[in-house]
Amino acid sequence: MPNPPSTRHMARLDNANNARGPGLRRRAERRAAGLLVAILLCVFAPAAFSQPGTVRHVIHISVDGLRPDAVTRQGPGRLPNFYRLRTEGAITDNARTDYDYGNTLPNHVAQLTGRPVLGEGGHHWTTNRDPRPGQTLHSQRGAYVASAFDVVHDAGLRTGVYASKSKFILLDRSYDAMRGAPDVTGDDDGRDKIDAFVYDTDTEDLVERFARDMASQPHAYAFLHLRDPDTQGHRFGWRMWNWHPYMRAVRRVDALLGRVLDLVENDPRLAGNTAIILTSDHGGSGHRHGADNAEHYTVPFYVWGPGVPTGDLYNLNQGLRGDPLGGRPGFDAQLQPIRNGAAANLGLALLGLDPVPGSSINTASRMRVWPAVDLGERGTAAGDVAGARGASRR
Ligand SMILES: [Zn+2]
Repeated sequence: MPNPPSTRHMARLDNANNARGPGLRRRAERRAAGLLVAILLCVFAPAAFSQPGTVRHVIHISVDGLRPDAVTRQGPGRLPNFYRLRTEGAITDNARTDYDYGNTLPNHVAQLTGRPVLGEGGHHWTTNRDPRPGQTLHSQRGAYVASAFDVVHDAGLRTGVYASKSKFILLDRSYDAMRGAPDVTGDDDGRDKIDAFVYDTDTEDLVERFARDMASQPHAYAFLHLRDPDTQGHRFGWRMWNWHPYMRAVRRVDALLGRVLDLVENDPRLAGNTAIILTSDHGGSGHRHGADNAEHYTVPFYVWGPGVPTGDLYNLNQGLRGDPLGGRPGFDAQLQPIRNGAAANLGLALLGLDPVPGSSINTASRMRVWPAVDLGERGTAAGDVAGARGASRR
C-alpha cells in the first residue's frame, strides 16, 4: 500500500474531527478503523487477497428472460463469453426472482433497490407497463424508494442506465433532478442520481453507446439491460433447441458480453478494477412467464471480477444462503436463496459502499463473493478496504 494516499486520508480525518459534529467523527473513526484493517491486510494477507473484492466499477447486466439452461445447453463453444464469466467467476444457475412477481419491471426495480415487490418494505411497483405520465416509484409507494444509484451518486461517483425497453423510463424519471432525493451525504452531488440514461431497443447500438460512454467517463455503477431473449421468447417461445430464435438471441447476447469484456480488459482504468454482475429478471416457457413455475422463477446469477473466486455461489455462502433446489422460498424463509434482487447491494459492497437505505435483500448478511476473510458484522473486507481508500460512505 503506497503511503501518500494514507497520509492524505488521515489529514482529511483530522479536519473532520476538528470541524464537524459527533456523527462525522464516528464515521471518521470507522474509516480510521477500516484503514487499520487495510494496513493489516496488506501486511498479513497473501498478496492476491490484499484487497478482496474491492473494485471501482460495477457493471450490472440483466439479460431479460434468460433461463440458466439456455446457457448450459449451448455450452462454451456457442457461448464463449458467458462461459468466461462462468469459469472465471462465482456463479449459480439456481438463483430466484422475486417471490410474487416473475416479470420485467417489478424484478428490475427489485434488482436496483434491493426490495421485494410486496410487503411492508416492498417497492410496490407491480405493473409491467410503461409508467403513466408523472408516475414515479415514489408516487406509487407513497414514500421515497432509494436505489443503488442514490448511494453511488451521493458518494460522488458516476452512474448510468442503458435500457432496451421503454418502460425503464421509470428509473430516469424517479431519480431525476426534481424527484431524486436531496444528497445529504458529504458534498452535495445533486438530486439527479442517474448521470447517463440511454434507451435503445437495438441492443448492439445500446452496448456500443455504453462502451463509448465508459471509455470517455467510466461509471462507478452501470446498469445494462439486454432485451433480446425475452423478445424472441414471447414471439417464438422459450425453446431450448440450438437453432431456435430464443437460443439465437442468447448467442447475440454472448457477442455483446464479449464487447463488454473487451472494454473492461483494454481500458487501463477498468482492467483489474471492474466487477460484472449478471442476472435475469425471469425465465419463461411456452410464450410467457410468471412467478409460480420453476422455469420462470429460476434465474442465473454470475459475479466476475478481481478477487472474486471461481466456483459455486451457494458453496461460497454456506450458512448465509440456502440452495432452494427446485423450490420457491418466500421472503420469510430463514435461509434465503440468492435472488436477482441481491444485485444492488452486492454491487455496492464491491464498491465499498453501504446498502441501499430501506432495502432488505442482501443487507444484514451480505452474500460473499470474495475469499473468506470475514472481518465481522458490518461486513466485508471489501467494504472496509474501500472505506480506508477514502470512498465516501453513507
Ligand atoms: Zn417478458
